[in-house]
Amino acid sequence: MPQTNASALYMSSPINALLEGLFEAPTSMAELKQHGNFGIGTFNDLDGELILIDGQIFRLAVDGAAHAVTDEVLTPFACACQFAPLSSENIAEPLLYKELETLYEQVLISPNAPHALRLDGYFKSVRTRSVPRTANYTPLADATDKQQLREFNDIHGTLVGFYCPPFIPSVNVPGFHFHFITDDRSAGGHLLHCDLQSGELSVQFFRRIDLALPITQDYLTADFQRDAQSDLEKAEKE
Ligand code: ZN
Repeated sequence: MPQTNASALYMSSPINALLEGLFEAPTSMAELKQHGNFGIGTFNDLDGELILIDGQIFRLAVDGAAHAVTDEVLTPFACACQFAPLSSENIAEPLLYKELETLYEQVLISPNAPHALRLDGYFKSVRTRSVPRTANYTPLADATDKQQLREFNDIHGTLVGFYCPPFIPSVNVPGFHFHFITDDRSAGGHLLHCDLQSGELSVQFFRRIDLALPITQDYLTADFQRDAQSDLEKAEKE
């Protein structure tokens, strides 16, 4: 039986390990899927962006192309849950990015608990990034300097992501963090910006965080001194 727990948000590692450049961990896609059918993350050696949607995992490569991923592929950082939304709402009117962020804030049960959010929509525009394969021990904030952007226009697709509370920066990305994939599952990336035409937003609330620790020599002996908050601002939001 899968070890899924509808009320827990699983994280395969604290994000501070990724910020230090620890891009190799032994967590497989098979293991990640035991924790749910919905999630985001990256791959060992930072080889593209990860999206887990409806139980299927895709690698969104540096050029934005989506590739199905096999069970033995490994991740140094991913979050997953069994998606069971508490509420869904139709969005019939176009929303600019800022307006969409305001809507996300309104649908949270509380800013002090993590949530999963899924937005299936028709987008006027979407801007994503993906990172290239990067050598282990490169700080994440430097690795993302080599990210490539991709623009989509008049596109049907889905945003898969999470909200995490402000107290969380050494464990996960505070605020909203989304990955995008097109309806035909051909392309996507880490979301930087989007303007929505219409869609459906579904939200799930978590009472617990299930934080795994990577049992690697690098992790167990790491000296975490980087400023997680400022590194995440640079690596995830720009
Ligand atoms: Zn991301």
